[in-house]
Amino acid sequence: MCKTEVIFKVGKYRNVPESEQIRVDNTHEPLVSQELFDGANAKIQSRRRDTKNNFVSIFAGLIKCGTCGKSLGLRYWGKDKHHIYVCSTYAQNTKACSDHRIFYEDLYNAVLADIQYHAHLAFEDREKAIALALKMNAKADGNKGKNNESRLKQAKKRYEEVTRLFDRLYEDSLSGRISNENFARLIDKYQTEQEKLLEVIEDIEHAMQEVRDSQKNAVQWADLMAGFVGIEELTAENLNLLVERIEVFERMETEAGAEQVIKVCYRFGGYIQERRFKATMLIRHGRRRKCPLGEGAGDEKAPSVS
Ligand SMILES: [Zn+2]
Repeated sequence: MCKTEVIFKVGKYRNVPESEQIRVDNTHEPLVSQELFDGANAKIQSRRRDTKNNFVSIFAGLIKCGTCGKSLGLRYWGKDKHHIYVCSTYAQNTKACSDHRIFYEDLYNAVLADIQYHAHLAFEDREKAIALALKMNAKADGNKGKNNESRLKQAKKRYEEVTRLFDRLYEDSLSGRISNENFARLIDKYQTEQEKLLEVIEDIEHAMQEVRDSQKNAVQWADLMAGFVGIEELTAENLNLLVERIEVFERMETEAGAEQVIKVCYRFGGYIQERRFKATMLIRHGRRRKCPLGEGAGDEKAPSVS
């Protein structure tokens, strides 16, 4: 099938040396480095939970509440026992957060669509994908980087000046050209300035490193995404390779329907864009919706957790 063909075309984008590449078992998925693969696997193992009904969520450990940041817990909903996720803060105290409920199927479809969209973008136009990742990452602001360079130059120049003044002060002190009192005062002044300058230099260098890292990460993200072009299903393996976390925001329901937003935080890429989608309505069997949770209006805690 052409799917395999597509994957081999991806090869030209990849930076991973051939000796370090492995194929994800039993899939036609792209080649990733052993390190990346091992990391994802370790996460899956640590997040796997034993369940009574043998349902293991592929999203285990990845789903967070967009408001409070806590994980969303898996539950059953309605007569048909749909799997839904609900904010775990809300589940304990309905006043501490809102439910942020999301149907498992909705979540699955939205995340798959998001990955498909960005994988396609990265495959078709690598530069555009890299630029998008950089744009979305505030730390990678090119102008900020430029300013940093001149600020760093200035700070280093002043540091050298102060060091020279220091040396001269000692000479003046030794030759008796300066009083002990003035010597002590100036030494203190220069020392304080030197310490401050060192802090500034360190901060700027750190910020510049972050910009460089962001650029490296954006390239890594685009290459990783491009490798998943043609992805048709989500598994714990591919999710943990691609995604750091998924934030779920409160659903908005109107007469016209329900809408929900998720934000996928990608490995290397961070938050690229939010995804808005039509969510499943909560009305069941013609009855108007009662209290969604907390008062036992149909939710039952599933034995599995995430
Ligand atoms: Zn919450």
